[in-house]
Amino acid sequence: MSYLSAELQQCLREADDRRCAYCQTAETNTGHPMTVDHITPRSRGGLTIFDNLCFACRSCNQFKGQTITSTDPLTGKIVPLYHPRQQTWSKHFAWTESGILLMGLTEVGRATIIALKINNPVIVDARSRWVSVGWHPPGYD
Ligand SMILES: [Zn+2]
Repeated sequence: MSYLSAELQQCLREADDRRCAYCQTAETNTGHPMTVDHITPRSRGGLTIFDNLCFACRSCNQFKGQTITSTDPLTGKIVPLYHPRQQTWSKHFAWTESGILLMGLTEVGRATIIALKINNPVIVDARSRWVSVGWHPPGYD
């Protein structure tokens, strides 16, 4: 993140509150600093400006890679991935009753969960532990 200006880093901290903009995992739960994701990858012309940057956990950022679209498993449609700066998280995602699995409410939400492997076994195991000690992810009611 050191290549970002101090002002840009501060904007990201305020916007994303040290959480992954995709799966909402908190930095304090991963034990790793958040990475900075180019929402439209640099290789596809994405700029290093606030409107194209968000915090992402290492898992989401790694699986996202250069991806910009994915297939909704319900409709089979190819749709753009969730855009944290242009879309509202709670309109596209919701937690299951347990707070352990993330559900997609829309084509974009479902396709993003698949592409970023947001319910992969490692993170699901970690969420199970957090929930077992009373922690729930943001957006969980
Ligand atoms: Zn994440």
